[in-house]
Amino acid sequence: MKFSEKLIALLKSDPSVTVLTGAGVSAESGVETFRGENGLWRKFKPEELASVDAFLSNPELVWEWYGYRKNLICDIQPNPGHYSISEMERIFTSFYLITQNVDGLHKRAGNSRPIELHGNIMRNRCTGCDKQFENIEFSGEIDQIPTCDSCSEMLRPDVVWFGEMLPKDALEESEIAISNSDVFFSIGTSAVVQPAATMPVWAKNNGAYLVEINPEETPLTTYADEVINGKSGVILPELLREIKE
Ligand code: NAD
Ligand code: ZN
Repeated sequence: MKFSEKLIALLKSDPSVTVLTGAGVSAESGVETFRGENGLWRKFKPEELASVDAFLSNPELVWEWYGYRKNLICDIQPNPGHYSISEMERIFTSFYLITQNVDGLHKRAGNSRPIELHGNIMRNRCTGCDKQFENIEFSGEIDQIPTCDSCSEMLRPDVVWFGEMLPKDALEESEIAISNSDVFFSIGTSAVVQPAATMPVWAKNNGAYLVEINPEETPLTTYADEVINGKSGVILPELLREIKE
């Protein structure tokens, strides 16, 4: 059996469940990783584009890079892994989803309130007053950076860049999720980017049963109570079938 009897019994008892996701959950949808072969952008490193310094020195380039990634994401669909996580929200009375992904695919799959630790690439934010803007249409070359209708400062992607703090609300909501967890899933994350990497450890120290789903080993693997080796788009639908039996 792929899943332990303990896990199935626990999940059937309607525990409080928290799921933490990373880029691996979107891999089966075809979301490019930063290191992918992507023509035009191959000559840049993400660290050189995803930072305040990069934005201040060349905002047009940063807008074009995000526009390019945003267009790629608009053309792809959530996969069975995303849909299973959305179903989990309806199965468990107490359910939290914390994601490091900026692609918005959890929302598109039906999760009502994912805690987005690193922001959302579909959204923009004012560099002056922090006002948020949805659906700013843009692709291709840019000659004028969009500005805020309240304070006229430049808009930027509403994502967390290298060297930036995570959104305070998202961190506070994550703490509540972690302290409530009976079962904590770490899915499709390499568990190296902080503070997300430490969240599964906090949850376990707080009494949660820690489950990792990943085709590869991570620094978390030896610490988890249960490790399920495989792709989230395959494993999660199987897991849900078992707990619904
Ligand atoms: P990561 O790229 O460091 O690690 C991805 C993990 O997913 C790996 O451990 C890999 O073994 C695993 N994986 C690969 N395919 C999988 C599958 N089908 N099912 C389950 N697991 C699979 O990703 P990370 O830990 O999220 O950290 C990367 C950082 O880059 C984050 O800060 C994130 O914000 C950002 N990022 C986001 C996206 C996105 O929004 N989709 C894409 C690239 C990078
Ligand atoms: Zn403003």
